[in-house]
Amino acid sequence: MFLINSSSYKIKKTKNKGRGVFLTKDLEGGTVIGDYLGKIVSHEEEEDSNVFYGMTRNDDEMILPDPDTAGVNYINHSCAPNCAMYPYKGHMLIVALRKIFTGEELSYLYLVDPEEGLTFYYACKCGAPWCRGSMVTSWEYSKKFWDTFIVKKQGKDYAKKLASFGKELPPLKAYPKKVKDETIYDLFGSLKKSPITVADKKLPSKVILRKKIRETGRRLRFPKIGTTVIGVLYNGLLITS
Ligand SMILES: [Zn+2]
Repeated sequence: MFLINSSSYKIKKTKNKGRGVFLTKDLEGGTVIGDYLGKIVSHEEEEDSNVFYGMTRNDDEMILPDPDTAGVNYINHSCAPNCAMYPYKGHMLIVALRKIFTGEELSYLYLVDPEEGLTFYYACKCGAPWCRGSMVTSWEYSKKFWDTFIVKKQGKDYAKKLASFGKELPPLKAYPKKVKDETIYDLFGSLKKSPITVADKKLPSKVILRKKIRETGRRLRFPKIGTTVIGVLYNGLLITS
């Protein structure tokens, strides 16, 4: 289910990834774009279904979207994503990591669990210069960071909350309009837009870099330092050119 106005996006065919979601209006960083809704099934039931992708909910269950209903399940994976999954009250929201521009395709890291994801089956064709070639995440990120983040966000009574939803995940009564930045996400400026110029003589802190990328949606060019910051990774590493 989309939570942004239907006039803000279009679903279109892409060259090599099936359908995708493209913006027709700029979106601010942190905007809650949608909620991943669907039927709650076991992993075995998912394998028997004709739906290619579902969203992993926990070790036992998946959320299977209705393939005929246009929802956030139409958003493709990218290794240079502009959106992310955000655990919230037992749901998985899709949020804008940064300002996203009209014409850009929405994307997020699918974070396919390395335990279930055969790399060749989940091949990635996102075209990012640092494309990993796969939608499968690393063991380190999956087990050390992502699982911990889910528990932190969903709270201790997560399991109980999940059980209370039954077999079909209904929409929540209320959604936040925006969420704050989380350093667990890789954050990249748009590769389609030109970088903005920053006159600083010293590289600002990672907190400031993230804030600038999130607000402007762009890469940051530091002519006095001779570098362009493309992104800040979850582990604090900078991607520069
Ligand atoms: Zn990729």
